[in-house]
Amino acid sequence: MNLHEYQGKELLASYGVAIQRGKIAHTVEEAVQAFKDIQSETGSEMAVVKAQIHAGGRGKGGGVKLAKNMDELKEHAGNILGMMLKTPQTPGGMDGAGKLVRKILVAEDTYAPDFDACKEYYISILMDRGMKQNVIIYSTEGGMDIEAVAEETPELVHKEYIDPHLGLLGFQSRKIAFNLGLEGKAFKEMTKFIAKLYAAFVGSDASLFEINPCLHTADDRILAVDSKVSLDENALFRHPELAELRDTDEEDPTEVEAQSYGLNFVNLDGNVGCMVNGAGLAMATMDIIKLSGGSPANFLDVGGTADAARVEQAFRIILRDENVKAILINIFGGIVRCDRVAQGVVDAYKNIGDINVPIIVRLQGTNADIAKTIIDESGLEVHSAILLKEAADLVKKVVA
Ligand code: GDP
Ligand code: MN
Repeated sequence: MNLHEYQGKELLASYGVAIQRGKIAHTVEEAVQAFKDIQSETGSEMAVVKAQIHAGGRGKGGGVKLAKNMDELKEHAGNILGMMLKTPQTPGGMDGAGKLVRKILVAEDTYAPDFDACKEYYISILMDRGMKQNVIIYSTEGGMDIEAVAEETPELVHKEYIDPHLGLLGFQSRKIAFNLGLEGKAFKEMTKFIAKLYAAFVGSDASLFEINPCLHTADDRILAVDSKVSLDENALFRHPELAELRDTDEEDPTEVEAQSYGLNFVNLDGNVGCMVNGAGLAMATMDIIKLSGGSPANFLDVGGTADAARVEQAFRIILRDENVKAILINIFGGIVRCDRVAQGVVDAYKNIGDINVPIIVRLQGTNADIAKTIIDESGLEVHSAILLKEAADLVKKVVA
């Protein structure tokens, strides 16, 4: 689950990580008030207006603007609120439709009073699955283009692996501060920053923290100017207060609806809809579709109880996608009996009524033969297959 920048910063601050402070606003009026509050708290005239959407690269798309006075603040807030912000990370990239900005963060200008003396670093923490360890990735080349840095000058991107039994050790934070070229007060601040950041990462069961930029100010403070935080959804039950931060406005509406039915659904851009029980089988099914010349329109794991109601909801969700030319249902009947699923498919098909794409059903496992008979005798436009190969051949035939 992804957080907004402002939510990520609040999480960091609750672990004592120094952040660029700000206030959230949904309207220009709220932004004006936030600006006044920031001005009186910081004594600075200036503030940055930052679009809050679940995508990075906002600066490049015009979603981060510095306001030097109230007039500029109103102008930026008015422009950014309600805009369709396109960034390299929004769907379709800079040529896509962009994402609607519903709220902005009015934040202190952390680069004042000496912009040129500030340095931007890159720091992220994530789990390296291959190494089975968390890793802190960091670089002196922070700012907006870390992808280019990693590609062109990979030697400037450092990694520090953390032993899960020992946790982050003092020498590791010092090594990071040293490699970032820090000394004196800034060195100490950075070691504290890293230690607290790591504690926040572990404490919140995060899967990704990305602080870009992490700012070194003219007076040697170290703070998080941006935050990208992804939390491990499987651990959210341990953090009800974090689970509440979910913003379904930022998610694919069909995926949100599917979740409410207990369906595990991911929208893709192919032409063959899939309905499968079990995530592993769903992945294998997508491979089979590819191999037989189609391309999957979605990933859909109906879970262990593929009853008629579930199957019907799954049908409706898949059929909403106009690109779908065929639907492949691939169920392995272990705990769930194939004949029950087959009956579910037939019932759902009749209930929905006007399904005008071919449906290929492959049922294997307990009572698979009975299931095939139910499908074959239903009189519906449903092709039944028991072997995966047969199902794949049918897919090939109908999408050709
Ligand atoms: P992103 O583009 O989505 O990654 O958004 P960021 O929060 O990283 O902001 C983009 C850029 O805006 C940063 O790399 C900074 O150069 C700039 N920026 C952010 N906050 C401030 C600020 O307080 N003052 C100034 N002058 N620039 C800022
Ligand atoms: Mn950033």
